[in-house]
Amino acid sequence: MSNESINWDKLGFDYIKTDKRYLSVFRNGEWDNGTLTEDNVLHISEGSTALHYGQQCFEGMKAYRCKDGSINLFRPDQNAARMQRSCDRLLMPRVPTEQFIDACKQVVKANERFIPPYGKGALYLRPFVIGTGDNIGVRTAPEFIFSIFAIPVGSYFKGGMTPHKFLISDYDRAAPQGTGAAKVGGNYAASLQPGYEAKKAGFADCIYLDPLTHSKIEEVGSANFFGITANNEFVTPKSASVLPGITRLSLMELAESRLGLKVIEGDVEINNLARFVEAGACGTAAVITPIGGIQYNGKLHVFHSETEVGPVTRKLYDELTGIQSGDVEGPAGWIVKVA
Ligand SMILES: *Cc1c(COP(=O)(O)O)cnc(C)c1O
Repeated sequence: MSNESINWDKLGFDYIKTDKRYLSVFRNGEWDNGTLTEDNVLHISEGSTALHYGQQCFEGMKAYRCKDGSINLFRPDQNAARMQRSCDRLLMPRVPTEQFIDACKQVVKANERFIPPYGKGALYLRPFVIGTGDNIGVRTAPEFIFSIFAIPVGSYFKGGMTPHKFLISDYDRAAPQGTGAAKVGGNYAASLQPGYEAKKAGFADCIYLDPLTHSKIEEVGSANFFGITANNEFVTPKSASVLPGITRLSLMELAESRLGLKVIEGDVEINNLARFVEAGACGTAAVITPIGGIQYNGKLHVFHSETEVGPVTRKLYDELTGIQSGDVEGPAGWIVKVA
């Protein structure tokens, strides 16, 4: 495929086979040096724990083309650290931070022709670790694969930065002491049916309440929730089963340091949505998606507007995306240059 055939203005969030992916194998107690390969098909044992027992985790991050032609990675050290925590939770070997970031850079450079031009999206990186090797019992795998592939993406929710409606789900995606805070496929398997039902009912995705009491908002599909109060507070759920998003973490820091908001990590009671003048979903794929309304018990609660983006959400979006694409100076260490 030549990149002349990519319509940069029509990019969504779809798999495209790009030129090269990184592959490293863990065997006899260590990761090998890793290589780039053109082959996008993995050849693994039918007994792989990833296939039967969900022993796998992944990451999602982006490389951005700047105005001056250089390439930015956004806080890759945070993705490396989170993947290490996911690996710990599933008894998989950690990929060292240095190897992780070096692999990201290799994959970005090897697929440079797939990086969308400045302002047209990003190159999405998908690192993952899977348990492989001959095995049948429920135990940690004898071998592992760490791989990263890349695809050019536009915006995740079709229509981009416009408010979307979400449906409160009756299902849980994670248990109170389960794997909600780890970026593992099992959480996503559990989310497929609720997500499907929400979309079928005309919503962008579903919102999960806390699995213990079903009274507080936890996650917006596969993104984190934030709300803005009339008292200039940035509120985001605090829970052991919420996935600690790097976008969320970054917005918390920017809300305080650049917008002068008070940041509160706390409960977001579903029966007290009226405290918020704006609300949004945030994540690498979703960036910031304004939440126009939330449907709960047959009633739609509308925040700022069903069609207009709120002013604080807009400022947060501009600040975050400005830093990512190199137009705005970010806090120290947030941007890692690839070239
Ligand atoms: C990945 C993910 C997020 C967002 O994390 P980012 O680091 O901001 O991309 C939020 N919720 C869930 C469930 C996720 O898997």
